[in-house]
Amino acid sequence: MASTYVAGGDVEYGRYGNPTWAAFEAALGDLEGGRALAFSSGLAAVSTVLDLVGHGCKVVAPRHAYNGSVLQLADLEARGRITAELVDVADTAAVTKACAGASLVWIESPTNPALEVADIPEIVAAAHEAGAHVVVDNTFATPLLQQPLGMDVDIVVHSATKFIAGHSDVLLGAIVTGDSELHDVLKKRRDMIGAVPGTFETWLALRGLRTLHVRMDRAQANAQELVRRLSAHPAVAEVRYPGFGAVISVVLDQGALAADLLTHKTTLWVHATSLGGVESTFERRRRWKSEPATIPDGLVRMSVGIEDVDDLWDDLAVALDQLAPQRPV
Ligand SMILES: *Cc1c(COP(=O)(O)O)cnc(C)c1O
Repeated sequence: MASTYVAGGDVEYGRYGNPTWAAFEAALGDLEGGRALAFSSGLAAVSTVLDLVGHGCKVVAPRHAYNGSVLQLADLEARGRITAELVDVADTAAVTKACAGASLVWIESPTNPALEVADIPEIVAAAHEAGAHVVVDNTFATPLLQQPLGMDVDIVVHSATKFIAGHSDVLLGAIVTGDSELHDVLKKRRDMIGAVPGTFETWLALRGLRTLHVRMDRAQANAQELVRRLSAHPAVAEVRYPGFGAVISVVLDQGALAADLLTHKTTLWVHATSLGGVESTFERRRRWKSEPATIPDGLVRMSVGIEDVDDLWDDLAVALDQLAPQRPV
């Protein structure tokens, strides 16, 4: 917990480095297969990467990427810094076509909250052909379920706030790259901007990382079982799940009102934004004015935790049954 160090050692000042950051970065770097840098939040990491894009250059990004990332792109575009082309990241032909003339291709897969999956290797090939760098926001999959650097992606970004820290008590971000030149550039920018994490937060995230595999196993198994049960419920019009991970999006038959009723009628499921904690949380995403209108009004994003799956289902079923009273036995 030091802001300064005895002069003449490896680190002089707390903005340039910290042994706890180094331990966290070594662990995350190992998992992703590159070198990691910790940041004060996921969005601080996103902003540091977008800051590398040259004046007037083009960025391709998913229209349903994390809202905060899309808002940063829109802000940079409004100020004349970059041009952004938003694409359906699951439409590989559209993404590869958009790569022409781009300097950065931003991928999020699965996307938050639409849960679309990108064909990362195909997009990487087209982007590199066009001379663009590729970034993957790997927050939803975590390095346990997807390792983008192994698919030739240049940079991985994380909101470690979510599954990596895993207990809804920390804000933290990370950037991982296999390119040491890029690593040095990013480290220099972190030094300069000061978007550095707290020592205690980083220590908590490192502690969280130690149970990531156990938490993810359980949360994913819970999610897969809930997908089966939700798909059979008459109040649910659509279940979106990429087949892996612990986030499900459901679209309710009766739209926003039903979604709001559901999120207020449970006792175990907590109505809250964010995701990736040990406790199950959910929210209707369009309650945020900034969420695009292409996300259905009645879409509820569910972050499945590690509780008993029958407890989770019973709690949901009581609420869902009230939305569909004529449910066949
Ligand atoms: C939450 C989130 C972010 C932003 O991270 P913060 O730690 O909240 O700043 C970025 N990308 C994705 C996919 C997220 O879910």
